[in-house]
Formats: sequence, structure tokens, C-alpha cells
Amino acid sequence: MIVREIIDKLYKTENATDEELLFILDNLSKEDEEYLFSKANDIRLKNYDNKVYMRGLIEFTNFCKKDCMYCGIRRSNKEADRYRLTFDQIMECVELGDKLGYKTYVLQGGEDDYFTDERMIEIIKEIKKKFPSNAITLSLGERSYESYKKMYEAGADRYLLRHETATKDLYDGLHPGEIMENRRRCLNDLKEIGYQVGAGFMIGLPNQTNKDLVNDLRFVKEFKPHMCGIGPFIPQNQTPLKDEEGGSLEKTVIILSLVRLLLPDVLLPATTALGSIDPLGREKGIKAGANVVMPNLSPTDVRDKYALYDGKICTGDEAAECRGCIERRMNSIGFEIEENRGDNVKWLTTEDGKQYENLNEHKKNIKTNLVFKK
Ligand code: SAH
Ligand code: SF4
Repeated sequence: MIVREIIDKLYKTENATDEELLFILDNLSKEDEEYLFSKANDIRLKNYDNKVYMRGLIEFTNFCKKDCMYCGIRRSNKEADRYRLTFDQIMECVELGDKLGYKTYVLQGGEDDYFTDERMIEIIKEIKKKFPSNAITLSLGERSYESYKKMYEAGADRYLLRHETATKDLYDGLHPGEIMENRRRCLNDLKEIGYQVGAGFMIGLPNQTNKDLVNDLRFVKEFKPHMCGIGPFIPQNQTPLKDEEGGSLEKTVIILSLVRLLLPDVLLPATTALGSIDPLGREKGIKAGANVVMPNLSPTDVRDKYALYDGKICTGDEAAECRGCIERRMNSIGFEIEENRGDNVKWLTTEDGKQYENLNEHKKNIKTNLVFKK
């Protein structure tokens, strides 16, 4: 097998066998790596141009009833300084976000029973009342079908729920008392209900091999999420995994490229975790095929409490600073921030109802505006 031939096959057919994917991960040279990045970049440019979409991240609670081994806000971490934003504080973040040009909010938190369906619906409805054209993404972990459905009906548009790892043994070791099938059930429910769904996984988990990463690539290829959150595992000093090694920038960026080739239209963030392990991590992710950034909109005084991992960037910056910083960073590598909702291309139709295949083609050939049909 030859690495470049497999990359070419991925580029042309959007697929490769598990053996071929493993061969790439095991044998990629520095030159092949550049070739892979350039091919992934090319596919992204075809589908999304040089536009980078922004999501304003609101970390609204760090209470969590789960005990994921890697996470700094797991319930067993008695040292975590817990907080919940009030309804008014959340709305302040939302209003500030709108002023700064964000058209999507991500409400993310631990699995916190305080935020019942009723409380979430109240928040979602208020955001939609004030900013009907802005999108709401939820990231609240595992809930019931009914709960997801009610929040969708209240106006939520998207849901992020990383599958974390597609290898059962790894999953079981990292999630005491949890069942992998339930997370899969949640992902299927979310899709069925009509959310744009984000799966995703961590790179460099303890004992994770290239074979495990191939399982993750296969899982996303088959599940076809609209979004895919991929970041390095970073040890947190108050967790049982504090002395483990974290994931590398290089491996994460390679995986981002492979996901772009497997799922050409996927919305792929260059994550904060990637920016936290390398000062130019997000830029490198974007150049390798990512097309989304998620700057922080949370109040500055809670940011360091949402400590999923150590060394998180931007915890001292005001939201407006983050907004300016991210734009300068993207411009510095020849990319532009696009101030729109940034829906998956497959979800957009033209005003006359035509589905379009790819952003550039659409811009060239069709003069009507794009509208989002829920
Ligand atoms: N509670 C929700 C959302 C918040 S956690 C959930 O778990 O889905 C969001 C993501 O942070 C998780 O999906 C996980 O992939 C990531 N994360 C948690 N701890 C991490 C760590 N130590 N390093 C890197 N990413 C981490
Ligand atoms: Fe809770 Fe999510 Fe952290 Fe797991 S990863 S402990 S569910 S916040």
C-alpha cells in the first residue's frame, strides 16, 4: 500500500477501508502529512470556501452528576468550585454575543439536574424570542428522547454529544457506571428528532491506539453527524488521569484532515483544547480542514471554574477580546470569519427551494439567497 494513493482515494471517493486508514495512521511521513492537509483543505474550500463560522460558547453550569475519568468537573472532584449561571446571566451572555456578531450560541454544561426540561425550555424560548434568527446549540449530555424533543420543539437547533471513543473497552474504562449504548441511543434520538447533531472524540486517551482511532473514523463515517468535535485529551490535575500523557497536536490535526476527507460537508471545529496545547493549534486545525471556531462568551469570573482540562486558554479575556482575537488569528492565515448561523451546507436551500451541493458552486451559479429550513 502507498499512503498517497490512499489519500487520493479518500479525496475522490470520500472513503477508504479500515486497513487503509490504519495504514495511513501508522505510516504517514512528514511530506505525506502536508499532502493530506492540502487535500483536506481543498475539500473544505470547495464546500465552505475560506469562511470560518463562529459559535459563542456559554458554559452555564459546572455541576455534573457523571464521573468521566478525564474530566475536571466530574462529580467526584470535590475540589471543583461549582457554579451555575442564572437565567439573567445567561441572557446577558446571549445579548453580548449578538452585539459581537455571533449568530449561534452553544449552551454547554455538566449534566446538572437543576436544569430541568422546564428551565431549559424557558431559556431556549427567551433566546428565540429575542433573537429568532440566531441558532441555539445545546451540549448537556445524555437525556431522554422526550427531553430532547421538548427542547427541540422549544426552538433548539443543534446538539453536541461527542461519542468520546467508539471502542467499547476504552469507553467502559473511562465512564464508570455508564453504558456506551445509551450514548449511541441519544445520538440516534437527536438525529431522528431533527437536530443538526455533533458527534466527536478525543485524541490521545490513555491506551488509545491507531486502531481505536480507525474505529472512531468508521463510526463518524457511518453515523454521518452534521458536526464533529475533535480535540486532544488533556490531563486535568484533579482527576484520576492527571499523570497520563495527553494527545498531540500532530495526531489531532491528522485526524481532523481525515474526517474532512471522509465527511466533506461536516462542520468541524478547531477546538479550544487544540488551541490550549499549542499557541497556533486552532490555526493549524483550520489549515488542515476545520471550519468552525468556538470563542468563549461565558462571564470572565466563571471561566477558570469550567476546568475540564488544565491549561485552558482565554480564561482571563473579555468576550469582546476573544471575538477580536479570533478574527485576527483567522485573517492571519488567509481565512475570514463569516457572521451567519453557519449551518451544515446540506441543510440549506435556495429561496426557490433548491437544495445546493456546495457553497462555491452556489455562489457562482445561483443568485437567490440561502435560507435555512428547519
Ligand atoms: N457534559 C457534556 C458537555 C460538557 S463536556 C458532555 O459530556 O457531553 C464537553 C466535552 O469536553 C466532552 O465531550 C469531552 O470530550 C471534553 N473533555 C472533557 N474532559 C476533557 C479533557 N480532560 N481533555 C479534553 N477534552 C475533555
Ligand atoms: Fe460531566 Fe461532560 Fe465532564 Fe463527563 S465530560 S464529567 S458528562 S461535564
